[in-house]
Amino acid sequence: MRVYNFSPGPSALPLPVLERAAAEMTDTNGTGQSVMEMSHRSGDFRPIIEKAEALLRELMEIPANYKVLFLQGGASLQFAMVPLNLAAGAQAGAGKRALYVETGIWAKKAAAEAAKYAETVTAASSKDRAYTYIPSAPAPAPDDAYYHITLNNTIVGTKWAGLPETGAVPLVADISSCILSEPLDVSKFGVLYAGAQKNLGPAGTTLVIIREDLVGHAPEWIPAMLRYDIHAAEGSMYNTPPCYGIYIIGLVLQWLKDSGGVPAAAERNREKANLFYSYLENSRFFRSPVEKPFRSLMNIPFVPLEEDAEKRAALEKRFIAEAASEGLVNLAGHRLVGGMRASVYNAMPIEGVQALVAFMKKFEEKARS
Ligand SMILES: *Cc1c(COP(=O)(O)O)cnc(C)c1O
Repeated sequence: MRVYNFSPGPSALPLPVLERAAAEMTDTNGTGQSVMEMSHRSGDFRPIIEKAEALLRELMEIPANYKVLFLQGGASLQFAMVPLNLAAGAQAGAGKRALYVETGIWAKKAAAEAAKYAETVTAASSKDRAYTYIPSAPAPAPDDAYYHITLNNTIVGTKWAGLPETGAVPLVADISSCILSEPLDVSKFGVLYAGAQKNLGPAGTTLVIIREDLVGHAPEWIPAMLRYDIHAAEGSMYNTPPCYGIYIIGLVLQWLKDSGGVPAAAERNREKANLFYSYLENSRFFRSPVEKPFRSLMNIPFVPLEEDAEKRAALEKRFIAEAASEGLVNLAGHRLVGGMRASVYNAMPIEGVQALVAFMKKFEEKARS
């Protein structure tokens, strides 16, 4: 039996995608091979990566002057590649100034990594209220290398309601947990990056979308595998790309297109989130810790209203275990923040959210009686 999987990542994939991958496992497109067995430079694999890129360009309306790269190393490697390619100096440690907005744990990690190669400045932080909101951030100086934001904060469940004004300074965004969840104007960004395992496909593939004029500025000492210019020149084939992951991403993108594209996905996501948040608003047992204007569509943390820390922890433990026994799995909050969190990416159907809310109502009634 399939469960409703609320995991923050790796997370649920659309069932039709898994079924198609299973059906094609030993013979893909009549080649008599699994995608895992194909030469990446063969005529068998080339249409697979080309199709994935074409679908992504279509679904995200990516302008022609942007490169799409399928890389490895997760979003975490982009924490280093962005400064290495956009801000590093002729010698290690002598980089340009880059601004970071600290909106959570991933944002903080990105800045800490960049600080090894560039001069990083925290433009604004929401740490004072446990990252439960998005701070307003000052504009960068004209000669800053870039301005980095985390568009959706997976752990704390916030998202940017609008984008900061950065003038000519490239806006760089980690969109790991919100890619393709809502329409996004790619032309507003210099670089977008995402680990695949939230909304795109299997872990192991990382997507980078980069404006062409930002490619080619890495100083010579940057290793080949960490250079956007080399990956762009080689069409993501400088070395063996994560072939199977790219194939699954292609299937996910085809599924998304067949189900109405990004606008339709956004509508479904808003419906799911509204259902969940309106229940939380009316509940006398659970609450959302996130300030209203900044609530994520994808990651929804919630906590019992219980004041006593020990009793609250016991309730959380019981909730997570009982939910799992009803096929509602992976609802524990991040280990650094505790509580509960439902991640409701594109592949989560509304029925999953309905089932979770029904379970929460039942749990609430039982606990309060
Ligand atoms: C999951 C996540 C990461 C880390 O991704 P890896 O692919 O594991 O490196 C970084 N940023 C955000 C916003 C995430 O959700």
